[in-house]
Amino acid sequence: MDAIKIKAHAKINLGLDVVGKLENGYHEVRMIMQTLSIGDMLYIRRNREAGDITLTVEGSDVLADESNLAWKAASLLKEHCSIADGVSIHLQKRLPVAAGLAGGSADAAAVLKVMNKMFELGLSQEEMMALGAGLGADVPFCVMEGTALAEGIGEKLTPLPTLEGYLVLLATPEISVSTKEVYEQLNLSAIEKRPDIDGMAQAIRRGSLADVLPCMENVLESVTEKKYPIIRKIKESLEENGAKKALMSGSGPTVYGIFEDMETAKAAGVRMAKANLTHNILISSVYGK
Ligand code: ATP
Repeated sequence: MDAIKIKAHAKINLGLDVVGKLENGYHEVRMIMQTLSIGDMLYIRRNREAGDITLTVEGSDVLADESNLAWKAASLLKEHCSIADGVSIHLQKRLPVAAGLAGGSADAAAVLKVMNKMFELGLSQEEMMALGAGLGADVPFCVMEGTALAEGIGEKLTPLPTLEGYLVLLATPEISVSTKEVYEQLNLSAIEKRPDIDGMAQAIRRGSLADVLPCMENVLESVTEKKYPIIRKIKESLEENGAKKALMSGSGPTVYGIFEDMETAKAAGVRMAKANLTHNILISSVYGK
């Protein structure tokens, strides 16, 4: 097949804990990751006439050059597998950029998966995950998809069953948050609220959303929320409007609410937009494997 279309799914963190700092400066995390059904769309074409990579981006001002994670993934695979043919990638950006939803990592993972198929490279999922880890800590999970416990710097993954039967409303305020700065400003000894990651994994295995909810926390909220009070306001608004629980994803700024029905989720979105908290609102179901 010389042309393949793929969706690059977003992720949220149902729980995010930072348990230590490694010698190389990276933080050691324990997180529960969940893939969502929403995502960017990528249209990838093999070019048998020329060997270069071309990228076009629609719907976002994210750069369409060598710095783009979709490009980096194509370039990595071309080199690693000595692919002579070229690839043209058209990226329809639907996910907010640098929002805590791993949109860029998902784009990279999608390119790895499509090129593996298109060029019949025969790479296993594990091989693609190992290659992807060089592009970013979230890329291995984006290759795997579904639900997982992530440890180490996020790359050590243990798959979990996917808990279905709920929706998430994602609200992304128009502020830019640097993941690097959030981690730098995190004071490990001052963390007050931690998620119960093991309790959450057990509740997911039992299929109990009610038992997952009290385990959910994100230790990075303490940093992002202090700097941007809008994060707390969105959380409060989500819970006042029917969310069973509201939490920031990754280092933010996206905040999501867990809803049990679409009607309540839609009504919450309308109220939040009317209150001018943010107009950048998406509703998604979870995506399991
Ligand atoms: P992180 O926590 O790694 O910052 P994120 O989920 O918050 O991830 P992404 O949307 O993945 O955010 O973007 C992270 C950074 O990667 C942005 O600063 C962006 O400029 C850059 N980037 C490179 N390629 C892409 C891409 N295809 N889509 C989105 N961002 C990209």
